[in-house]
Amino acid sequence: MHELSLAQNLIEQLVRLAAEQHAGRVVKARVRIGPLAGVVVDSFGFGFDAVKSMFAVTCETVLELDCPSAGYRCLVCGREDDQRKPADAPCPDCGEKGKQFPVGDDELILLQVELEGEDGDKIAG
Ligand SMILES: [Zn+2]
Repeated sequence: MHELSLAQNLIEQLVRLAAEQHAGRVVKARVRIGPLAGVVVDSFGFGFDAVKSMFAVTCETVLELDCPSAGYRCLVCGREDDQRKPADAPCPDCGEKGKQFPVGDDELILLQVELEGEDGDKIAG
């Protein structure tokens, strides 16, 4: 499963980060999933929860997901909209119908991590 391996990669990244910062615990991880990443967000969250319990530093980590939606660009004139129009709706600029394609990034990015030191102190990260 694609999402599970992505979740695994993320957890490994968090575990490594915690070790580098000498943190005892990863409190929170904020992750952005690009609109074209092809990630099923629910499955990713499920995978994260399944994998995080395998490591002491991540077993209580709260996952926050930032999932922007894709934009749509007209193939003919390049006009961009933030929503897909029905296939029979003409483009307001050029009048072409059904020529939109989705635009956006496909990256999964770790935006922010909140770590806690071994003695319970907060570490900015
Ligand atoms: Zn157009």
